[in-house]
Amino acid sequence: MKPETIAIHAGNQIDKSSKAVIQPITLSTTFERGEDGNYPGGFMYSRSDNPNRQALENLLAALEGGEAAAAFSSGNAAAMAVFQSLQPKSHIICPDDMYHGLRNQLKIIFAAILEFDFIDVGNLAIVKQHIKANTQLIWLETPSNPMLKICDVKAICILAKENNLMVAVDNTFATPMCQQAFGLGADLIMHSTTKYLSGHSDVTGGALITKNTNPFWDKIKNVQVYGGAVPSPFDCYLTVRGIKTLPYRMRGHCENAMKIAQYLENHPSVDAVFYPGLASHPQHALAKTQMLGFGAMLSFLVKGGELAAKKVINNLKIFTQATSLGGVESLIEHRYSVEGPDSLTPKNLLRVSVGLEHVDDLLEDLTQAFNK
Ligand SMILES: *Cc1c(COP(=O)(O)O)cnc(C)c1O
Repeated sequence: MKPETIAIHAGNQIDKSSKAVIQPITLSTTFERGEDGNYPGGFMYSRSDNPNRQALENLLAALEGGEAAAAFSSGNAAAMAVFQSLQPKSHIICPDDMYHGLRNQLKIIFAAILEFDFIDVGNLAIVKQHIKANTQLIWLETPSNPMLKICDVKAICILAKENNLMVAVDNTFATPMCQQAFGLGADLIMHSTTKYLSGHSDVTGGALITKNTNPFWDKIKNVQVYGGAVPSPFDCYLTVRGIKTLPYRMRGHCENAMKIAQYLENHPSVDAVFYPGLASHPQHALAKTQMLGFGAMLSFLVKGGELAAKKVINNLKIFTQATSLGGVESLIEHRYSVEGPDSLTPKNLLRVSVGLEHVDDLLEDLTQAFNK
């Protein structure tokens, strides 16, 4: 089946008793046992599993082409389950442009438990140099946040296999519509479902999908069930509902983003645009080979520095100044001030999550904001 069909059908079960076409939200925390002590409905207790979470996990596994998925209460909780499943004192290779919330998670929570290096994963020789005897995992994020760097997932996965390492890809920016990371050789895919998958800026959630079930996946499932950072049935329902339109939303998002990137690239008040769909992007050729679409996140540098950048934001009327991404509404943010003082992000950088408004309205808004 094609993604559009999977997105609509893989997460839905017609209700057995009422025949409701849309699977209802099952709020019950507990499930009746049979006379033999078994669980005839297949569920026991909602932290362990529940019908809406199962529907979401089946859908995510089908969309990414993996064997199984695990849903969490946030993207950070999903990533944390991976780090918690590693052997203590093992080493992780991470991108230098890693999502700052996860970089902070490693630095603040795992500093005494794991070893990690934040390196330029866009350079295979540098990745090779950082493989140590205790390296267990290479964590990738492509396109990266907020610099939209692209790394060569296929080449890194080949290197990882040669060295017996796992590769996990944070596929939040790309979504399964724009990047099939298992096809490129990844072992695990992580999503902040808060973003494009739920798609309407009203659910916080995360997920892991595994290409193959194996003992490491069993550990991750243990962290999910016994760690307990699980999403509520309502959150799962909303995420399943959002994913139904993901393939069509991503087409609109990508189309709008390309036009905005081109507009910004030609604007005299802009020093640089970072969008993998532009021929000027340093890894555009690589992006074309490993991505099915270029996504709808972009960043740009405003001429004149931080104050000039903030002025553009404050003049915008349709774009909302807010963090996060992947909703139908366009968002813009001054990324440096979100990330805090250890941020490596240029102070005149604005990050945009291009929404699904009509692109002409977005372009007009940008024009008036620059001219004001
Ligand atoms: C938002 C985000 C996360 C973290 O997800 P939460 O749902 O906020 O915990 C991780 N990676 C990327 C690329 C993100 O954008």
